[in-house]
This record gives sequence, C-alpha cells and structure tokens, in this order.
Amino acid sequence: MRSVDRRTLLASGALALTGAAAQSTPAAAQAGPKPIFQVQATTIPIVGESDVFQVRRIYCIGRNYAAHAIERGSDPSREPPFFFQKPTDAIQNVAIGAVADHPYPSLTKNYHHEVELVAALKSGGTNIAPAAALDHVYGYALGLDMTRRDLQNGMSAEKKPWEIGKSFDHAAVIGPIHPATKTGHFSKGAISLAVNGTVRQDSNLDKMIWSVAEQIAKLSEAFELKAGDIIYSGTPENVGPVVKGDVLLCKLEGLPDMSIRIV
Ligand code: MN
Repeated sequence: MRSVDRRTLLASGALALTGAAAQSTPAAAQAGPKPIFQVQATTIPIVGESDVFQVRRIYCIGRNYAAHAIERGSDPSREPPFFFQKPTDAIQNVAIGAVADHPYPSLTKNYHHEVELVAALKSGGTNIAPAAALDHVYGYALGLDMTRRDLQNGMSAEKKPWEIGKSFDHAAVIGPIHPATKTGHFSKGAISLAVNGTVRQDSNLDKMIWSVAEQIAKLSEAFELKAGDIIYSGTPENVGPVVKGDVLLCKLEGLPDMSIRIV
C-alpha cells in the first residue's frame, strides 16, 4: 500500500514540496526488495594483492591423467573430458606456510586426496576457441579435490549422481591465487602430494590429457563461463585414503606448497 501511495504522490508532484523526503524516495524505490538475510560471498586471496578473487562456480574435470583414468576403470584414449561441480561455499582457503585444519567429513570411511592445478577465470563466454582460452585465465592455484570415495563409488555403481561423494563442505581446498601475469601459464611442471612425509601422488602437468586451454574450450560448449569461475583440472594417479591426524603436503612446480591436517 505504501509504495502505491508514494507512486501516486510522486506522479502528482506532491512530494516535491517536502524537501529531503523527496530526494530520498527515488533511491529507495530503485533498490527493490532486500534479501531477508545476508549470504557471505566466497572469496580466495590473491598473492601480492589486497583485493580478493570472488568465486562464482567451481568446475572440476574428471580423469584428466591417463594413469588416473585407468586406476578409476576407464579408457583414457577414448573418453572425452567430463565435468562436475562443487558448491561455491565448499572452498577452504589455505594460507601459504600454514597447515590448515581440515575436518574429516561425515558418512565416509574412505576419504581420498586428489591434488590438482586450479585455473581461475577473469572472464568467460560460450564456445571459446582453445587458442583464445588462456586469455580468460586470471591466475592459478594449488587445490585438493577431496572425495568421499566410498560414497562416490556407491552412487556410481547405482548410476546415481556423484554429488554426495564430491560436493560437500570443505571439499574444495585451495591455496591463494597467483596472477598469470606473474607466473605465466601452466602446461608442464611437477605436481605431487605427500601424506606424513611419504609421497603418494607424483606426476607432471604435461601428462594432462586435456590442457587448461582445452578444458576451458570444452566447458564453454556446455556452460557460459564467467569471471569468478574456477576449474580443478584433474588429478594424477595414486589417489588414496587419509585419516584423522594425517598431514598432507601438496607441491606444484612454480607455486608455494600447500598443507592441511585432517582433524
Ligand atoms: Mn579430481
């Protein structure tokens, strides 16, 4: 009722006579309905910047290293890239030099590590050509695609969605983003993960079946990519379980290490 009354008053010019009230009314009318509560934006720190990277969507590529595809039971020579998503607020930020506490999640008895390169986009589009794809990359980070493997496998066996195995709280562990203007783009370089000092995953980005540019191109055929999207680019072989108390150390040639402790 009140807005109708104001609109009527404005149309008649009556509010022009009331000074300050007339000045504040148009702004209030433009603001529209307010959310009934605030949802916090998900952000990732940027190395060397005081501003942060706001996350829009988290995409993950599956089976992007041949040896990992084989250990997961597929043929890497024939399978096109496939993607899944994690919820944006699954991000767990890990600072350089820290050993962040990472909660062992509910429901699982087989909780797996997957160390991955993450590309962070500053722009996007649809049907992006591979040759132009890296122009959309703002920077890179080290990430962990944490996985409730027993739940993923159980749902897979029943031809049901993976959601519960991949898309839960804290499942997207990530270090700070390094601008590509400083690091360059990543097409090769050692990537590894150690648990309690024992190396478990040890590979090289040049073994990725689909490069970051190709991942962006393929993704953009299915989704309109936008600034704020990040892409977990797949994990090499020798994924495996962790338990409470384990300390994970992730390394990627050219970036600082990232470490978490399972609690
Ligand atoms: Mn993964």
